Amino acid sequence: MFENNLSYAQQQDQQDFLKSYREQFLIPTNETGEKLVYLCGNSLGLQPKKTSEYLQQELNDWAKFGVEGHTDAENPWLPYHESLTNSMAKIVGAKPSEVIIMNSLTANLHFMMVSFYQPTKTKYKIVIESDAFPSDKYAVESQIKFHGFNPNDGLILWKPREGEELCRFEDLEEIMKEQGDEIALVMIGNTNYYTGQSFPLKKITHLGHQHNCMVGFDLAHGAGNIQPNLHESGADFAVWCTYKYLNSGPGSLGGCFVHERHANNPDLNRFTGWWGHNKQTRFNMRHDFDALSGAEGWQLSNPAILSMAAIRASLDIFEEAGFENIRTKSKKLTGYLEFLVNELNDERINIITPKNPDERGCQLSIQVKNADKKLHTQLTEAGVISDWREPDVIRVAPAPLYNSFVDVYKFVERLEKILS
Ligand SMILES: *Cc1c(COP(=O)(O)O)cnc(C)c1O
Repeated sequence: MFENNLSYAQQQDQQDFLKSYREQFLIPTNETGEKLVYLCGNSLGLQPKKTSEYLQQELNDWAKFGVEGHTDAENPWLPYHESLTNSMAKIVGAKPSEVIIMNSLTANLHFMMVSFYQPTKTKYKIVIESDAFPSDKYAVESQIKFHGFNPNDGLILWKPREGEELCRFEDLEEIMKEQGDEIALVMIGNTNYYTGQSFPLKKITHLGHQHNCMVGFDLAHGAGNIQPNLHESGADFAVWCTYKYLNSGPGSLGGCFVHERHANNPDLNRFTGWWGHNKQTRFNMRHDFDALSGAEGWQLSNPAILSMAAIRASLDIFEEAGFENIRTKSKKLTGYLEFLVNELNDERINIITPKNPDERGCQLSIQVKNADKKLHTQLTEAGVISDWREPDVIRVAPAPLYNSFVDVYKFVERLEKILS
């Protein structure tokens, strides 16, 4: 179905129904002004050209109105987050009342665990995937300790089998069958940052709930990449960041999902702040805490408007392009990458990401046997921005909004040259 030549890649770009979006991003260049092959949107997404305008609007309104900008700005700051909710809800497949943009990712994970990890003496363990992102593992371990348990016993790793790289659902079933009574929370990183494996959210949630566990997902590598259909999955909570596939700038605010069944759940602990309080009486200052219904009720602080402006610039692009279209292109673009890498016919190369497009996002994790970090340096020198993970894996993530078929072609061509 694909062809291994540059003119084919160029032709695919010509026919690409999302081709105009590449022009809407600032793509880093080398010293001679040539665009780099940027395949690192899994780490930091590129800047939309419109972002500076959106930021400037808020700077201007701050200059013009000072504190009155909360109500008088072009986009008043008090309800600013509400303007992001609908678009974000579509991207993660949730109802608007289930989604809130606030804090940062690891902070949100902790706040969600305050509510959804309420261990008892006998049911206190947490399951994560064995190659979880380090921050998630630290957060989970520290929560286990905080509640007076020992992570050596309280943390269960869902591991790939000996000689395999991917986690099998049957093995999670086995863990649940054996230890489900002791497990309080299943918290899985979806899509896995290392292998690119995207886990079946609905199946995992169902399995966890059968054993009376809470189930949450970290969608740092999922949001803006795959469609997690959070509401339908039934997950209790999810967290994500917006600076990877959601292109909203380094360290930008995170997102949070709380399933509507918990919208007003009085049984959940929660750490609170004034921004989670009833909007009508928030400024009366002396009231007892009166939580907003839904995800909004988990807010703590008045949010960073400048960061939200950047998120808004990005979400407007997603809204216009349509997430289904983005996903359709993504499957094809990553399929092309896979095809070209396989065409190299190099025995040292093994793609560890699942072959089934429904079990992965845009990223491919390419293992190169006996390679070391020098390979990554050489790729960088050849104008390819990718990322490296010890001992021998290059991760490349063609982002459908700004990467092209020619980008993918150039990457594989340069990789081949370096390997030969
Ligand atoms: C990127 C990433 C993080 C980073 O956390 P921050 O709190 O945003 O610094 C955490 N977990 C996962 C799974 C990630 O991919």
